[in-house]
This record gives sequence, structure tokens and C-alpha cells, in this order.
Amino acid sequence: MRGYFDYNATTPLHPAARAAWLEATDRCWQNPSSLYREAAAVKHRLEEARERLADLLGCDPGRVIFTSGATESNNALVRWLAQKSGPEGRVVSSSMEHPSLAEPLEHEFRGRVIKVPAHADTSLNLEAADRLIQPENTALVTVMAANNESGTLNPWRDLAALCRARQVPYHCDASQWIGKMPLMGLGECDYLTGSAHKFGGPKGTGFLVVRDENERLHLARGGPQEEGRRAGTENYPAIEATVAALEAVEETLAAVAPQQKAFRDAFETTLCTLIPGTRIVGREVPRLWNTSLMVLPAHDHRKWLGRLSQAGFAVSTGSACSAGDKGASSVMQAIHAPVEEWRRVLRISGGWETTEEEWNGLADALQKVGAGL
Ligand code: PMP
Repeated sequence: MRGYFDYNATTPLHPAARAAWLEATDRCWQNPSSLYREAAAVKHRLEEARERLADLLGCDPGRVIFTSGATESNNALVRWLAQKSGPEGRVVSSSMEHPSLAEPLEHEFRGRVIKVPAHADTSLNLEAADRLIQPENTALVTVMAANNESGTLNPWRDLAALCRARQVPYHCDASQWIGKMPLMGLGECDYLTGSAHKFGGPKGTGFLVVRDENERLHLARGGPQEEGRRAGTENYPAIEATVAALEAVEETLAAVAPQQKAFRDAFETTLCTLIPGTRIVGREVPRLWNTSLMVLPAHDHRKWLGRLSQAGFAVSTGSACSAGDKGASSVMQAIHAPVEEWRRVLRISGGWETTEEEWNGLADALQKVGAGL
């Protein structure tokens, strides 16, 4: 492969995560709930990993529940809040949430999900959010931190503060933010979703931070693991690898992010010159430094994707989860982009170690593919 540009779908395992996983798998494979000395040591290390993650997020370790990923965290939280809130409770959300949140919301709160509109530049309409969040009947406000398709950053700190003032719970799906943006303040959200494989951790691992460690919620019923909140033997090696990955990316983020942003910005400028008529979605608003959602001037995006893949470049048509079906990009729908543009969208997402040569190679390949279609 000449260039992997699908980091928002998943990332390669960080070397620090791989080392941590191997060590934990070899040496700490016992069940943390068992009662002999070796198992107690695993339990101890598991709790240390929870504390290290809580430290990074700025929250109490008792609030962290390890899960199988963001999809489980989002589904389980929505299901539980729906049970708790009664038939009148409404949810205020955005029109650009990931399907792992949007679909359970529609299912559990049918007809009671109010969507904060987006501006044409993909930014969230904060004035509308302010109007829509009414304390008397809002069971939950849930708006993601960074969008998986366009990389648009949402004003989650403002939303968290607004919700705190009105005493309405705020949930933030920070799957795309964590590992790419500073973590500071995330632990102040009442509920928080994270996914390890978006920041160099293993797949099938993630977490949900809950409002209060004494909150008696059940993501899965069964054994007493995770203080009875999520039954099932903990995947300690994956948890250790998750925390190792996040610590490692955090350490270099301040140096890596501006450099990568410069590569991405230069790529966009070059591309718009090489392929006139290309439009970058959300270019005017704060975005993740790795993401570029573009509308190409012609041809179906699957053709571009196929030819780019032949040339050794991995890109996406939008979010991986809806790449195969006819459901179009939720960002394009939310900003009311013309329907005929929906099929001309490509999502490019680089990583922490993507090189300038790879970015240049991609621009070059896009031009060649465009000329040949
Ligand atoms: N939320 C967001 C914002 C995402 O980008 C993704 C992954 N595409 C998910 C949730 C689902 O994550 P997981 O693969 O861990 O279930």
C-alpha cells in the first residue's frame, strides 16, 4: 500500500499497544474475578489501567466502564436512559451523529428525538441548541465531539456547560476526538463514549464514562464485573493496550497535530488546483487535523475509490459503517447539499505518522485517476 487514508474508519495498532497487549496476554491472562494470587494481580493491574485512563480524561476512575467499543457504549446508554426517563422524555441530538447513536435513539425514543440543525458550513447551530434544550422535558442531550465524516469539531464544552446550568444530562460521543485532540475537560461531560481502535488501540474495546460511580445502570446483566454494571469477563490485555495507546498518542500529539494539519491543508490546496471544481466540506470551520471530506466535480465516488485502491491508496466514501448501503453521508444530508453531490463525496483521513510523500502521492493519484475516468 502506498498510502492509508482511512484512519477515521480504523487505525493500525500502535506499537506501544501491541507491546502492552502481548505482555498482558502472556503474563496476565487469568480471570480478574478469580480469587487466587495471580488473578488478584490481574485485577490490580486492570484497576490501575482504569485509573490511568481516568487521569487522562480527568474523571473519577469509578465512572469508567470498559465495553466492547463505542457502538456498545452508545446503544447501552441510550437503552438505559430510555428505561429511566419515562414516556415524556425527549432527547436533543444533532443531525450528524454516528449511526451507533442515531439508530438506538430512533428506536428507543421514537418520535421524541429533536435534532439541532447544522449550518451550511457543517457547524452546529448553537443558538438553536440553546432554544431546544428545555430542562422540563429533556431526558438527555447528546452531541458528538468531532464528526467522523467531515472532522467538524462541535462546541461540546459549551453544550456541557449549558446542560450543567439547566441540570440536563449531557452525553458526548468522543470516538473521533480522543487521540486527535486534547482530552482536557472531557471527563466533565456527564456521559462519554470512546473507542480504542480510533486511536491506535485494539478493535472491540472501548469505554463509557457515566455520570456518577453509584449510578446503578446495567449495560449487560450477569456476573459482577465492572461493579455489576457490565457483566462479562474483562478483556484485560485489550484494556491495557487501549490505555497504552492513548498515553502514547497523547505524548506526541502537541508536536504531531500541527505538522499533520499543515500536510492536510497543503494537500487540499493542491487538490483544488489539480482538480478544479473540487469542494472541501467544512473547510471554513474548526476541523480535525487529519480529515478532508471532499465533493469531486464528477463521477461516482465508488469509481474513484476503486481506482485509488488499485493505485495503492485507501480512502472512504463517507463513514465506513454506511459505505456499503445506499444511505448517504449524514453530513451531506444535514447541510442540505444537493442530492446529486452525495455520490461524489470522498473522505480522506490521515494519521499521526502519515508522511508528506504519502499526502503528495494521494494528490497525484487523484489527479491521474480523475484524468482517466
Ligand atoms: N461513534 C463514532 C463517532 C465513530 O466514528 C464510530 C466508528 N466509526 C463509532 C461510534 C463506532 O465505534 P466502534 O467501532 O468502536 O463500535
